[in-house]
Amino acid sequence: SLVKHFPVQRGVVISRTVGQVRAVDDVSFDIARGETLALVGESGCGKSTTGRLVLRLIAPSGGSVQFKGQEIATASDEQMRAMRRHLQIIFQDPYASLNPRMTIGDILTEPMAVHGIGSPAERAERVKELLQVVGLLPEHARRYPHQFSGGQRQRIGIARALAVQPDLIVCDEPVSALDVSIQAQVVNLLQDLQKRFGLSYLFIAHDLAVVKHISDRVAVMYLGKLVEIADKKALYARPLHPYTQALLSAIPRPEPGLQRTRILLTGDVPSAMHPPSGCRFHTRCPHAQERCRSEEPALRDAGPGHRVACHFFETLPLPAGVAAVERQ
Ligand code: SF4
Ligand code: MG
Repeated sequence: SLVKHFPVQRGVVISRTVGQVRAVDDVSFDIARGETLALVGESGCGKSTTGRLVLRLIAPSGGSVQFKGQEIATASDEQMRAMRRHLQIIFQDPYASLNPRMTIGDILTEPMAVHGIGSPAERAERVKELLQVVGLLPEHARRYPHQFSGGQRQRIGIARALAVQPDLIVCDEPVSALDVSIQAQVVNLLQDLQKRFGLSYLFIAHDLAVVKHISDRVAVMYLGKLVEIADKKALYARPLHPYTQALLSAIPRPEPGLQRTRILLTGDVPSAMHPPSGCRFHTRCPHAQERCRSEEPALRDAGPGHRVACHFFETLPLPAGVAAVERQ
């Protein structure tokens, strides 16, 4: 088979302040083998930064990022090179991430060459195999990126990530730049590949609609903080953080008569560099009280595997039309 199966332990990711930008402040989660953890939040919340920290494309200034028990944050460059083979990324813009002067064959061969995988003949064989695995044709290897549609280019980006047999792929908004009609195809492909090769995904998205089917667990971020993390079922059926409730209320429902009450957040998104005091969400939260301005809520247990950072989650009402609809 194309991808070997590696024993993957549960990895732990704990990252802290990144350089001068307080994009990711205190984020902690783990991802199991074959699991998809969705990381969701508005732009600027630190989700892409978190994804890049996992791959050490940017260096964390503290905290811990572990992969199969090995520390990434403090690994030497040589150790990091070896680990990179198992950690890959798929970018939001499949066009910008493919070199326009390289053929698809060269684009797919490059990561194998970098990691010393296979002979030239084996790599050429594998390029054909990779193209078929992502739903393209072996003869596409001779073409250039501009000859493909957006969806096909994202398939090429996925094939490039698969070329080195990774364990974990950070999918950084992989379908946000694609037509809605193409999005489901790419998400389905990612799901098929996950089953086939036992991949783990950190799937970054800016809304809860796109990750509803692919995720096993969902982590919601706001201004560099994790505000809620739960199994998918629990998160969609019983969203406890007011920000999660607002995100969920924004998902349109196709069925007539089952409209959610949209929770509109007022106020601009504050800067992550100068986040509000206390609960960072207090400037936009419909339930904010005096305590929220001064006291930062800790992530607290709200059920098995369910953690929420809100002082009042136990007593807040579930908004109409959000959870009720999801429970059906
Ligand atoms: Fe809203 Fe206060 Fe809870 Fe923050 S702590 S989410 S401001 S109710
Ligand atoms: Mg981003």
